[in-house]
Order: sequence, then structure tokens, then C-alpha cells
Amino acid sequence: MNIHEYQGKEVLRQYGVATPRGFVCRSPDEAAEAASRIGGRAWVVKAQIHAGGRGKGGGVKPAWSVDEVRRHAGQMLGMTLQTPQTGPEGRVVKQLLVEESVEIDKELYLGFVVDRNSQRVALMASSEGGMDIEEVAARTPEKIHRLFINPDTGLGVAEADGIARRIGIADRAVVQARVLMQNLWQAFDGSDASLAEINPLVLTRDGRVIALDAKFDFDDNALFRQPDIVAMRDLDEEDPVEIEASDAGLSYIALDGDIGCLVNGAGLAMATMDAIKLYGGEPANFLDVGGGATADKVAEAVRLMLRNPRLKAVLVNIFGGIMKCDVIAHGVVDAVRETGLKVPLIVRMKGTNEDLGRTILAQSGLSIINADDMAEAAQRAIGAASNWERPR
Ligand code: GDP
Ligand code: MN
Repeated sequence: MNIHEYQGKEVLRQYGVATPRGFVCRSPDEAAEAASRIGGRAWVVKAQIHAGGRGKGGGVKPAWSVDEVRRHAGQMLGMTLQTPQTGPEGRVVKQLLVEESVEIDKELYLGFVVDRNSQRVALMASSEGGMDIEEVAARTPEKIHRLFINPDTGLGVAEADGIARRIGIADRAVVQARVLMQNLWQAFDGSDASLAEINPLVLTRDGRVIALDAKFDFDDNALFRQPDIVAMRDLDEEDPVEIEASDAGLSYIALDGDIGCLVNGAGLAMATMDAIKLYGGEPANFLDVGGGATADKVAEAVRLMLRNPRLKAVLVNIFGGIMKCDVIAHGVVDAVRETGLKVPLIVRMKGTNEDLGRTILAQSGLSIINADDMAEAAQRAIGAASNWERPR
């Protein structure tokens, strides 16, 4: 689960990480009022969407008067903001963060992320802040410093100070940076985050170390014990198909390809996507209908999948264990009839009542391509997708 920058900064403040003063706003009047309340002579108006790269897309604007804050707010609210991370469709801006402007001396990068290779949390830090960290990693990997956190002891004083020095923090600010890093670790650990990223972390002209941006990702499996985090969920920022799927008890993740996958079991779903990729295709989605799906649930899954306009084939890959193949077959047939499926349908079915399932499919009169194993299923799906032409 993701949250907005203004919410991320609330989490940071709870854990004692310094941030600029600011308020979230939903109208130009609120923005002007926030600026007056903050005081000072310069502000920054920042679009709140669940995507980074806002600076490049016109979603972060400085203002030198309360009127200018109001004007920027009027322009930004309701606009479709396109950034390198939103894709061409962009995101509609519904909320803004109005903050005191900070005089920046240096922009740095600091983040904690779960590192699968080491099975630890990695602290990543760089003197190259404010830009895309993937780009820094690709071009100047020596400028990224990594440290793996011992979960028992957390981030030690010497470790933190070493990192601070390596990213160019002057002696007089090292203690401040150390405390900030330790607090960010506490925030990461305490909120069950999988990512806590500050980009940029800035050194100000008056010698402070402040989080100018905040990006959090949380482990969905831990949300049951994080009610405060769950309360920050913004459904407007999520894919409506994914929300409907989760309401229906399906796990569905939209992807960029054109072969829809309907699979039971997360492991089999991953393997199916791998097989498609191995033979040169691109999956349109991850979809796990779960172990005990009913015919209705399968039909719902097909319906959700078919809302993707890029779809060129559907691959159903079922292992009938707890779930019986005939139940799946009924669900598939019903859904195909009801939705008038236009794209080729490839089915691979193994396990309990497999023969019955095949008979149901064969007797349905629908044109279904049968496959015996995963490799064949993936290859047939790719072939069918590439031959299929969208009816005009
Ligand atoms: P992102 O592009 O979505 O990651 O948005 P950020 O919050 O990181 O802002 C992008 C850039 O705007 C930062 O790297 C800064 O250079 C600049 N910026 C943001 N807030 C301030 C501020 O208070 N003062 C100044 N001078 N620049 C700011
Ligand atoms: Mn940023």
C-alpha cells in the first residue's frame, strides 16, 4: 500500500524526522490560508499523487506571495499531471501540499528498502539526491552507499555516522543526520514499511537536515496491525479493477502485456507468467482466483480481465486440487457466454475431475484451444494473440 507525501511526512514527524511545515489543501482558498498560517515569504505548492517525478511534470511550484500560492493551487487542482512515473494517462490532482520553502544547500538521497538478496533491510544513501535514484545507480553506482541493518540492533551510531560522512555531510551536521537516520529506521520498522524513501534529504543553508520529500510503501500482509496506516489509504489513487478484484476476494495485478492469465494459486500464477515470458509473450495481468473459488468467482475474474482493452488472448491455467476442474470449466463457460469473449481462449487443466472439465468445455460449443502442459499453453496463447485481429 502507498500513501501520499503529506501523509508520509506525518509518519516521519511522529518518529521525530524533521520536515518542512506544511498543510494539505483541497481548494485555492485553503492553499492561501495554509500559506498565511505557515508564514514567511516563500512557499512550495506540491501536487499530491501516488507517483514521483512531479518536479519534472510541473507538480512542484515555488511561490513568493500568498496570491501566487492561490494561483498555483487553482492551476494544479484538477489538472492531469503527467510524470515519468504516471505513464501517458497521467493522474488527476485532487490534493496539494503547501509548505514553507526551504533554502537548499545540498540535495541528498536516503532510503530504507527490503533487500531480497540479503534478506535484510538495506539502508541506501547517496550524495546525488533530488534525481531518479535508478539513474544514479545505473550511471554512477559508486555514489550509492549500502548498509544492511541487523534487525536485532537496528542502525548503530558508528554505522550512521559513517554513511553521513560518505554522502558528504559536514562534521557539524553529522549528529543531526545520524539521529534522522535512526528515526527513519524506527519509522520504517514501526510502520511495517517495505520502502521509506527521502529524496531529496536536504542540507539547508542554515545548517539543518530536513526531509523534503517522503515516499512510503507498506507490506500489505502487515496492514492488519497498522490501523493508522490503513486509514491513510486513498482509493482514488488505485486501479479500480484491482479494488473490485480485492473486494471479490481475487488477487489481481494489472500489467502491460496482452495475454490475460486466469490461474489458481499464486505460485502457479507466477509460473504461468514466467512461461509466457520465456516464449516471448507479455502477460496482461497477474490473477489468482484462490484455492477454493466457485464458478461465480471464476466468472467475475473473467469479467474483470476482459475490461482490459489491450487483451489479445486469455490463458486459463488450472490445477484442480481443492478446486475441481469441472467447477472451473462451468465458470469459464458461463463467463465466456455472458461477456461474449472475442479473444482466443486457451485452457490447460490438470487434476481433480480433469476429464469432466474437458468434457464441459468441449460440449459448450465455444471455440477453446486445449493445451496439455504449461509450455504448450504459453506457446499457443502467444501464437493465438499474435494472429488475432481486433474486430472493427
Ligand atoms: P518529486 O519530483 O515528485 O520527487 O518531488 P520532490 O518533493 O522531490 O520535489 C522535487 C524538487 O523540487 C526537489 O528535488 C527540490 O529541488 C525542489 N523543491 C521541493 N521543495 C522545495 C523547497 O522547499 N525549496 C526549494 N528551493 N526547492 C524545493
Ligand atoms: Mn522526490
